[in-house]
Amino acid sequence: MNLTERDLKVIWHPYTQMKTASPPIPIVRGEGAGLFDEQGKKYIDAVSSWWVNIHGHAHPYIAEKVSEQLHKLEHVIFAGFTHEGAVELAERLLAILPDNQQKAFYSDNGSTAIEVAIKMCLQYWLNKGNQRTKIMAFKNAYHGDTFGAMAVSGRSAFTKAFDSLLFEVEFIDLPDKDNIESLKSKISNLKSELACFIFEPLVQGSAGMIMYEAEYLNQLMTHCRQENVLMIDDEVFTGFGRTGKPFACNHVQIQPDIMCFSKGLTGGTMALGLTTCTQEIYDAFLSDDKLKTLFHGHSFTANPVAIASALASLDLFLLPATAANIDRIETSHQQFRTKIQNHAKIKEVRQIGTIIAMEWETGDNTSYFSSLRDKLYHYFLAEGVILRPLGNIIYILPPYCITNAELDYVYSKIEHALEEI
Ligand SMILES: *Cc1c(COP(=O)(O)O)cnc(C)c1O
Repeated sequence: MNLTERDLKVIWHPYTQMKTASPPIPIVRGEGAGLFDEQGKKYIDAVSSWWVNIHGHAHPYIAEKVSEQLHKLEHVIFAGFTHEGAVELAERLLAILPDNQQKAFYSDNGSTAIEVAIKMCLQYWLNKGNQRTKIMAFKNAYHGDTFGAMAVSGRSAFTKAFDSLLFEVEFIDLPDKDNIESLKSKISNLKSELACFIFEPLVQGSAGMIMYEAEYLNQLMTHCRQENVLMIDDEVFTGFGRTGKPFACNHVQIQPDIMCFSKGLTGGTMALGLTTCTQEIYDAFLSDDKLKTLFHGHSFTANPVAIASALASLDLFLLPATAANIDRIETSHQQFRTKIQNHAKIKEVRQIGTIIAMEWETGDNTSYFSSLRDKLYHYFLAEGVILRPLGNIIYILPPYCITNAELDYVYSKIEHALEEI
């Protein structure tokens, strides 16, 4: 049996209808923006392997740091114990986050970072003797696949089987110049019950790279601050340069109370989640009453090997060459956008930083499950490009090390698809 056959005998893949999906492609090696299969065919990873990879695959510097760490300390329980890397990563990250971020809580992935953030907010109010239980979120939001994270995400095909078990959330529209005042009044009306507002800053990734303006997010956040509603900034996707600035909240003037990170945190090397918060939130859990403790933790909290990969990734992220690459991709995307935005088959092109999304004109068949999506996906794969359209939306978000030649190749395949499909 070859690897694909062995896989199909024993593996259940994520987000995959196993009855109809085409068999998975075995990948044996990665380098830069490239992934290579058993025959040596190269695939350009134009989606950064589900948005996690920022410095390229099998980066030698990260590999070296992870390997060193493995020979020193692979893991230690994080209750009652600590280790150098966990402290250093928190120190270095807090230093580049908005300056109200003072404490770091580690977990395993983006969804768990969100669970921790939600628990921090709910228990913050309880500990202050002023219970608030409502959470506000954007329609079409995506914050993860565990139950709490699912509950604060928009109701969709993804959540349908579980909708009746998800706690109620106050969903609001994305802010714009027409609705901003009504959104503000809504917040004012709900404020005594509102524990927090959770949002994806500027880009809703899973919803289809839906973008909204910093100016209106800023207004909404200003209002939440005035009304004393805690803000959870979900930077799981947008963190570490994706939007052209280190963090998407750097595009606004108001500092969130809580921030969540994962995806790019380790450069896409290992699973790691991080929730940071203000001193004010942290202090609300300090008490002689044990019931005020934040009772949350995972077996692998602050795993030293994952942390070593995050520290190495941060070293690379802070190099001037990385900022230059982010600018280069942004400029390149802008040029491509100008080139194709008037194409008859293109409804809209959206772009921020290293993310570009093209909405394909399909009449009414725009669902995530459209057949166009599958056709495009397979067309790009055959041409050696990994793009996973969200319904009729094609997006590119490459590792920052992608070369101009590779980017041009991806663009040319999209232009080709526009003509042929
Ligand atoms: C991917 C994602 C999550 C969930 O992260 P996982 O590591 O996949 O659990 C949460 N929020 C946003 C904005 C994401 O894009």
